[in-house]
This record gives sequence, C-alpha cells and structure tokens, in this order.
Amino acid sequence: MKDVINIHVMKCGEVGVDPAVPLRKVSKNPFAYTGLLRSKKHRIWIPVFTYLIVHPKGNVLIDTGWSDQVRTHPIKAESFALWFASKPSLPEGSAVNEQIESVGIAPKDLDYVFLTHMDVDHVNGIQLVKDAKAIMASKEEIQEANYGHDVRYSKRQWEGINIGAIPFVKTGLGPIGESFDVFGDGTIQVIRTPGHASGAITVLIRNHDQSVLIAGDTGYCKESWRELELPGPVHDKELMINSLKWVRDLEKEGCIILASHDPEVKEDIIKL
Ligand SMILES: [Zn+2]
Repeated sequence: MKDVINIHVMKCGEVGVDPAVPLRKVSKNPFAYTGLLRSKKHRIWIPVFTYLIVHPKGNVLIDTGWSDQVRTHPIKAESFALWFASKPSLPEGSAVNEQIESVGIAPKDLDYVFLTHMDVDHVNGIQLVKDAKAIMASKEEIQEANYGHDVRYSKRQWEGINIGAIPFVKTGLGPIGESFDVFGDGTIQVIRTPGHASGAITVLIRNHDQSVLIAGDTGYCKESWRELELPGPVHDKELMINSLKWVRDLEKEGCIILASHDPEVKEDIIKL
C-alpha cells in the first residue's frame, strides 16, 4: 500500500507484579507469580503498552490498558484477587482515551478495538473506549472469560459492552494457521497465538517491506521468545512454546516485536 501506516506505541501506566510473572524460571514455586506468600520486595514494575494504528482505511486500537478508576478505586476497578496480583499505576494523561484524544481521535472514531486477551491489564480500560464501532476478542477468550472459572478474569470490567468474536479463518498464517485480515489487503492481520491465554492473539502489520508484530503477552520480554522462556501465567505450555517459536522466527526475518510489558520498548510512532 502506497500510504503510510502509523503505529502509536502508547504507555498506559505500569503493572506491579511478582518477578515470576514475566519469567517463571526466577522461582521454584510454580505459584510465585500470584504473589501469594511472597514478600513485597518481590515486586517489579513493568510497562503496560497499548497501540493505536492509524491506517488509511481506519483506526484500530490494540488493548485498552488501565481504567482511570484505578487512580482512586483500584480494587473496585479490578477485583480483590486481581488487585493483589496486579497493582495498577496510571499517571494523569496516560489512560487510553486521553492518549488517543491527544492525537485527535475520539473513541467513536475507532473502527476496531482488538483485545490481545482479557487479562486485567489489557481489558481494564475497555469502558473508556466503549463508543468504538467494534470491540473484539477471540471466541475462545470470550468463552473462557465469561463462562470459565479462572480468577484471572473479572467480568465487571466489560459489563454492558458487547465484545464480538474475531472471524478467524484458516489461512496458514501463524502458529496454528488461523488469522483475520482486518482491511482485506494484508496490511493488518490478527493472528491466533494461544498459550498465555486460550484465546490470545497477536497483530501483524506489514507495509513497504517492513513488519511489526504487536505480541501482547506472547512474550513479556525479548528473552521470552529468544530463549523460549515461559511466563508465570500460562494456559497451555505446549501451545505457548509453539507461539513463542513463531514470534522468534518472525524476529529472525527482521520483524519488529512489540511485547506489552517489554521494558526495552519505548513510546514511539512507528511509520510503515
Ligand atoms: Zn499483560
């Protein structure tokens, strides 16, 4: 495509977690990432990124970061269990709606919001962009988050919002070969990458022989895919390794990988 695609890499605060969240190998205790029976000195702060893709055919938001409610009522905004495991921090001006509005885009101007998965630090700001034309996640994630029993999901966050199922088809793209071509021209592909969550997705943006992968939590930092290191929270280890291998191979081909919590990623506007 002749026109340029702008990817706004927006830091929506931070999440305070046990060091075993990004890399489970740091503790022998398989539940260390939950923070249970772990001292406060075992807490690190890592960034929470969301991404606004300004494409000639429409505006696409990936993930929603924290709700502005976490500034005053963090337990109410999450749930006690989630707050215990994931401490939010959201400076003034860094909520997702504040950031997109600062570049002249209102929530109603968003053609799509895609949730890489429905963990709290990705879905918590959903009410701030509820006026978007379509809000979507994979059907596996919607199912698990609404009808499963995993405490990692807190339904109160998306109350009153219709989250549609991404219409994946078999294309051969991605670790399990299922993807959705958002504008039908191959420039933005939403790809199923299960592992961290049953319905985790990543988003591949390609233009002018360059590519960027918005990896969500399919890798917390570069070590995750380069050394195939698992994070603490994993839905399926085998699928996670399979997805990480796919990310590793993309990077080897020259694709820029943006993971939601990678401390090496900086706020930026990437032009493709
Ligand atoms: Zn996350």
